[in-house]
Amino acid sequence: MRLSRYFLPVLKETPSEAQIVSHRYMLRAGMIKQQAAGIYSWLPLGFKVLRKIEDIVHEEQQRAGHIPLLMPTLQSADLWRESGRYDDYGEEMLRITDRHGRDMLYGPTNEEMVTDIFRSHVSSYKDLPLTLYHIQWKFRDEIRPRFGVMRGREFLMKDGYTFDLTKEDALHAYNRHLVSYLRAYERMGLQAIPMRADGGPIGGDYTHEFLVLAETGESEVFYDSDVTDLTFGDREIDYDDVAQCQGVLEEFTSRYARTDETHDEALFNEIPEERRRVARGIEVGQIFYFGTKYSDSMGATVQGPDGKPVPVEMGSHGIGVSRLLGAIIEASHDDKGIIWPEGVTPFHCGIVNLKQGDEAADGACEALYEQLTNAGLEPLYDDRKERAGGKFATMDLIGLPWRITVGPRGLKNGVVELTCRRTGESEELSPEAAVAKVV
Ligand code: ATP
Ligand code: MG
Ligand code: MG
Ligand code: MG
Repeated sequence: MRLSRYFLPVLKETPSEAQIVSHRYMLRAGMIKQQAAGIYSWLPLGFKVLRKIEDIVHEEQQRAGHIPLLMPTLQSADLWRESGRYDDYGEEMLRITDRHGRDMLYGPTNEEMVTDIFRSHVSSYKDLPLTLYHIQWKFRDEIRPRFGVMRGREFLMKDGYTFDLTKEDALHAYNRHLVSYLRAYERMGLQAIPMRADGGPIGGDYTHEFLVLAETGESEVFYDSDVTDLTFGDREIDYDDVAQCQGVLEEFTSRYARTDETHDEALFNEIPEERRRVARGIEVGQIFYFGTKYSDSMGATVQGPDGKPVPVEMGSHGIGVSRLLGAIIEASHDDKGIIWPEGVTPFHCGIVNLKQGDEAADGACEALYEQLTNAGLEPLYDDRKERAGGKFATMDLIGLPWRITVGPRGLKNGVVELTCRRTGESEELSPEAAVAKVV
């Protein structure tokens, strides 16, 4: 992409309404625009990162054997009356009446709808296990939308629903989700720690939230510092291997890590003092096994091996896709701007032309652009007639991992400058060597 042809409405001033760094940088880097409280347009740069995060989530879900589909944002209230949640959900639910006077709502989550799909089409235990998921916009009329996309009212969520014959199978599905989430977050450059969570009104012992440690997080968290040493890495995983998935769950959840909702001071105090940590975290996902809550109330049964109807065992598993942009920036930035992890960066490398219009500089930039593109990368070429200082500030703000700076003076010596955004280190190299390092 050439910046002269792109749409990157960078702000010079720091927007006063933004209280935390990720919100400030997302506004300043022209990634989002607020349209109403907690409702945003995703401008091209923000949309690009959102899509990268979605891609990772899709890949990791499908690697785990989970099947994508797409359910609508608007739902009929009748389904929610069946489960009893239409009245229970409260003011967070946006309720709408259509022209015929029918009660509708903008979905805050999809348990009812997916259970309806299931009961309409699945009747035998032989069709299990089944996991259906989608990445779709949700609406929750949050009392205090804030921190930009972190607590929006309209937000993008991956929500997946598992259907199994037995509790044992449902817990394997739970473990599969835990593993696939660990992988997905790591690919986004994040450490998200599974912490024991509260089942809330649904109840249930099997629920974990994934938290990214950050001072600006809304949850208070208590953990054994040993949990931060755990990484999933690139180990091989067989998602059908029940024992292997269970092993990962045990490895990642056996040490103390809880949010304030489930915190137990006595247990916490059993950890050696030097390992006790009290901090703040951002909830970027949650997994939940809830058994037959919806299958009982909505009549989702399958015929078991003995021919008798059994209510299906269910779980639901969510990732806060749009919130993740904020979480990643909170975890990875400096005072100049965002520092994108390679896995989610909107462009891989910036090219800054110090003297637009200079034949040698223009030619070298075009050649770099072509080489990077041919190598399968997406460069962003700042080809505008602007001062170098402004170009650097924009590149630092939008946080691409690499920047290649090209000027007539360097070219006389056959070199360009390659700068790593994370370390700030620069080196002079031939253009070919610079491309080789970025690729
Ligand atoms: P929170 O405690 O932050 O209100 P939640 O527990 O109500 O979140 P879930 O129902 O568990 O949310 O939804 C799954 C994921 O969706 C959450 O882990 C979070 O990452 C994301 N999410 C929830 N509410 C919002 C919101 N208002 N804006 C952006 N993302 C959200
Ligand atoms: Mg909530
Ligand atoms: Mg929560
Ligand atoms: Mg939650």
